[in-house]
Amino acid sequence: MSDPFQLGDRLRQRREQHLYRRRRALHSAQGTHIQCDGKPLLNFCSNDYLSLANHPRLISAAKKAVNTFGVGSGASHLVIGHSCLHQQLEERLADWVGRPRALLFSTGYMANMGVISALLKRGDTVFQDKVNHASLLDGAQLSRARLVRYPHCDTEHLQRLLSATDTPSLVVTDSIFSMDGDVAPLMDMARTCQNENAWLMVDDAHGLGVLGRGKGVLAEYNLSQSDVPVYMATLGKALGSYGAFVAGSDDLIEFLIQFSRSYIYTTAIPPAIAAASLESLSLLETETWRIDRLHSLIDYFRRAAAARQLPILSSQSAIQPFKIGDSERAVQISEKLQACGILVGAIRPPTVPVNTARLRITLQADHQEIEIDQLLDTLVSVFHQTDQQ
Ligand SMILES: *Cc1c(COP(=O)(O)O)cnc(C)c1O
Repeated sequence: MSDPFQLGDRLRQRREQHLYRRRRALHSAQGTHIQCDGKPLLNFCSNDYLSLANHPRLISAAKKAVNTFGVGSGASHLVIGHSCLHQQLEERLADWVGRPRALLFSTGYMANMGVISALLKRGDTVFQDKVNHASLLDGAQLSRARLVRYPHCDTEHLQRLLSATDTPSLVVTDSIFSMDGDVAPLMDMARTCQNENAWLMVDDAHGLGVLGRGKGVLAEYNLSQSDVPVYMATLGKALGSYGAFVAGSDDLIEFLIQFSRSYIYTTAIPPAIAAASLESLSLLETETWRIDRLHSLIDYFRRAAAARQLPILSSQSAIQPFKIGDSERAVQISEKLQACGILVGAIRPPTVPVNTARLRITLQADHQEIEIDQLLDTLVSVFHQTDQQ
């Protein structure tokens, strides 16, 4: 058979560069202890930061909604897929993050694609942090606007770029960066954007549920509607559910309902998933200990890693990466950890820049201090072994 797209060559190249990805089959619910390919593992790579994905109350909320609303939503929001549960969730989310309105999207990827491509057109400019999430960069490509990437968290550089630009401009950033765990300097960025008459869009996928007593980065830094006109967050990470939303002014939400193609041309998420997200928001209020527990584990991890002279980064979030550099070594370390019963992801290019492969450790509320010690002790010994090769 002919191979006009050179799939074989391109796959071979991936393998040779140690960038080949393989999936594992999970045989249990998400949690700190999982069954993976038939083996028990201590899990340090989920984004289920508050350990809610398998919470009994989310499960029963989803079951109850399935009994009333069935499984599939049956249509897009604009046709007849928009249930009263979706409606309720949008109102609750808007309230939760302190914005007039919110709009549900089926995934975070689609929300970012849909917002950026709807707002911008050819001739406009979109400024993005070099290490923004792929969905933000892809949204920019789709919009046909000019895409300008600025050095990571460099607000002065951004300011110079903005002042040299006279087109309508959108500045887009992750709040907590997904592969580094650090936080964008949002207060400075908001001021810069307002001075330069640009809009700021913040992707709070890793901040909602974690920062601002669970209310996300807007609450954490007290960022107003004019500071951050476009707020986006996902429900599949700390909230333990699925889906995403955009929050902002009435005009922004109405505009997206009219013009955002990834909102319009897709089936609404199942109503039972919306019910689970609603329950998750209630849990953030009633089980506030989860957020406290996560933050105390983050502190514990950082102190314990520093005590072992491990090279921690500046992250104060649930994402605690160790930079390795070489992709092959990162994979080796991850495989050795797995052989010791510990699951940590090796993140490689193109997810992260070339030569910055890393282990991405994520913490969650159900972890125990002793499990963190176990991880770090194993890491020290594995670092040692792979160093000597
Ligand atoms: C996970 C993630 C997304 C995508 O959200 P999904 O709901 O998983 O599609 C978008 N932005 C960031 C920063 C993310 O980490």
